[in-house]
Amino acid sequence: MRTVAIVPAAGSGNRMGGELSKQYLTLGGIPILVRTLKVLEECPLVSALLVVVPPTDIAIMRDSVLAPWKLKKVAGVIPGGKERQDSVRAGVEALDPDADIVIIHDAVRPFITIDLISHCIRAAGQEGAVTVGVPVKDTMKEVSPDGRVLRTCDRSLLWLTQTPQAFRRDIIESAHRAAVRDGFRGTDDTSLVERMGIPVRMIQGDYNNIKITTPEDLVIAEALLAAKPGR
Ligand code: C5P
Repeated sequence: MRTVAIVPAAGSGNRMGGELSKQYLTLGGIPILVRTLKVLEECPLVSALLVVVPPTDIAIMRDSVLAPWKLKKVAGVIPGGKERQDSVRAGVEALDPDADIVIIHDAVRPFITIDLISHCIRAAGQEGAVTVGVPVKDTMKEVSPDGRVLRTCDRSLLWLTQTPQAFRRDIIESAHRAAVRDGFRGTDDTSLVERMGIPVRMIQGDYNNIKITTPEDLVIAEALLAAKPGR
């Protein structure tokens, strides 16, 4: 079975406050995007990677990221879209005809492990659609737009959803096609699959698999890195 990884990296990084897109920021001297791509490359089950970047960054990516960091499995650098969903769809549309499984992982989650990637790919092969997540630890409340607590949710059933998310190719292709047809916007890829009535398996992930979106996240990421020598 051939697995292709799609790495959406076309965000602008507005919440980071600086000029540079967050995926190009360095963590321990290595760009966050490079860290993420390296882990995916090191997974023997991943055959090729498609990186989705801002349309203006294609040349920078090839010359200043992929070549110097000797990334070998990157088969394509694809121009992304306005929102994450548009960028992932651009990746899905660029898949080679032989891809059987598609694993989608945010560029800004560098603490992913080879074990978790492998687990996701195997589960997608068996079940069709999977996401990684972690059970929530805090008490969750539903709140009205004017700040009134409406109810306390049953925490035992709630999970925070992360990436990777992995799919049989036909499932993710048809989910993105249906989302375009229906004008549906989701904040992750499994929500596109769920609305088609296709079951999605939740796999226990890792609390360290954080998304680096704000300057505070970068501080946490530096601490996580310091706690993991060799990364
Ligand atoms: O927007 P968010 O912070 O959830 O971004 C998650 C991932 O999606 C990041 O790796 C970001 O670069 C990517 N993204 C994208 N295209 C966009 C917006 C976000 O590829 N238009």
